[in-house]
Amino acid sequence: MAVIDKSATRSDSAGREQIAVKNPLTGEVIGHIPVCTADDVRQAVARARAIQPAWNALSIRTRSNMLIRWTQLIAQREDESIAAIRRETGKNRIGAFEEMLVIDRTVAYYARHAPEWLRRKTRRPLLPFRHTARVYYKPYGVVGFITPWNYPLLNAFQDLIPALIAGNTVILKPSEITSLVALHMVDLMIQAGIPKDVVQVVTGAGSTGAALVDQVDYIAFTGSTATGRKIAMRAGERLIPCSLELGGKDPLIVLNDARLDLAASGTLAGSLENAGQVCIAVERVYVEAGIHDAFVERICHYAGQMNIGSGDGWDVHMGSMTNERELLRTEAHIADAVAKGATLVHGGKRRPDLGPLFFEPTILTNVNHTMDVMREETFGPIIPIMKVRDADEAIRLANDNQYGLSGAIFTKDLKRGEQLATRVESGDVHVNTTQWIFGVLSAPMGGVKNSGIGRRNGPEGLMRFVRTQSVVIDNQIGAWPMLALLDDGTLKLVRFLVNAMRRFPFLGP
Ligand code: NAD
Repeated sequence: MAVIDKSATRSDSAGREQIAVKNPLTGEVIGHIPVCTADDVRQAVARARAIQPAWNALSIRTRSNMLIRWTQLIAQREDESIAAIRRETGKNRIGAFEEMLVIDRTVAYYARHAPEWLRRKTRRPLLPFRHTARVYYKPYGVVGFITPWNYPLLNAFQDLIPALIAGNTVILKPSEITSLVALHMVDLMIQAGIPKDVVQVVTGAGSTGAALVDQVDYIAFTGSTATGRKIAMRAGERLIPCSLELGGKDPLIVLNDARLDLAASGTLAGSLENAGQVCIAVERVYVEAGIHDAFVERICHYAGQMNIGSGDGWDVHMGSMTNERELLRTEAHIADAVAKGATLVHGGKRRPDLGPLFFEPTILTNVNHTMDVMREETFGPIIPIMKVRDADEAIRLANDNQYGLSGAIFTKDLKRGEQLATRVESGDVHVNTTQWIFGVLSAPMGGVKNSGIGRRNGPEGLMRFVRTQSVVIDNQIGAWPMLALLDDGTLKLVRFLVNAMRRFPFLGP
């Protein structure tokens, strides 16, 4: 569908508008993508619908093997894949590698478990000797994916994998900022043997995404809460299912007994991964009074040791931000906090010497909940630290937010940490680490409150892409002609059975 036009023209031969794609590390234009029209999307969906029965007719193992082959190709061309991700996002090499790693393991995970989870299941009916009940799992058909720019491989493809394995065909509308990575990856899928209409990319911005929601049988969205709300409304009108992976403002709590250096360096890593442009970035830090000052000293110490730059080595801790929009919001949040009494204790400035969108790791103290930096998603390299009286106050403040994606608690007392974790209103919580939910592919991940609906990963991440069909069979053993579903004889039998089940619940449905 989308053809990369390297020329600088503003429309392609079919008259489609084109969007320039830039390298954040240099600001240079590296390609153009066409804005696919509603008609383009309609045609892509028609092709996906036409091939879906044939794709679904393949065994789960055959579909999985093609995806395994795809991950092998990505691994064989590691340098090329890493370069493609870095060119559009400006992130460091390790960050790009992490995306490949998660995708590789996601394919392996679902390839291993999907055959069992998607196998038809037998359920127990009220009259077990008379009836047989089975549940079948069927793909929705054509699933649409609308995805963001911050992890152009991981966020665009991680959910697509279980959808494909379940027998759906898919159409991806990647972010207009990082579409070249998506096109590159789909090209590798085709090389791995996946028929070309099974996975298609439609490039463009919001209008192309909206056209996709109008056509598909299921829409999986990852992006901002504002856009997610629009998509959910349209999905509601069309009565198609949707899942929404949205924004976050994740809290991290440091208790007095935490190991100081592990907590300080762990907070730094959880806040500054991908220059803070992570849905599950640590965006608020609550530190118990007894350890607060020492914690601030240690986190500033570690921030000062970070290697920031555009280099290609594994030793670069933080790369560039990706868009000017996030950089401007980062600066606005710092200015708002400082104007309301926050103290800037580290960073706070752009680094034009490194590239146009580099920003220093920034640490703020004396922050409170009147400040945007403690309420709104920043998506930048800021660590605002607030002193709290005790764990109860920390939990109350952690939950005082519209979002609920992830969270973290640092303490030496693992039992207490786990108990407190269950009081945080979020889809996942970490004790003594952050963001490792991405390393636990068997655990569901997703938001509560304004952070979204639905779960990725785990059995939940696969089963959302299938609908159930229950089949109830009367074996006609001991059956006789009846003019109603229950007659006197059957009613007596049902009564007897229900009474028995009341006394012996293990006999029940
Ligand atoms: P965004 O909402 O601006 O865009 C996301 C996608 O939606 C893009 O592909 C965009 O073109 C498309 N889009 C925009 N308007 C649309 C419309 N009206 N209809 C259909 N599609 C439309 O988000 P972004 O700036 O690309 O990404 C950053 C946001 O994504 C942050 O809020 C971040 O927290 C969130 N995010 C969440 C997760 C998660 O798993 N929860 C993961 C990554 C990012």
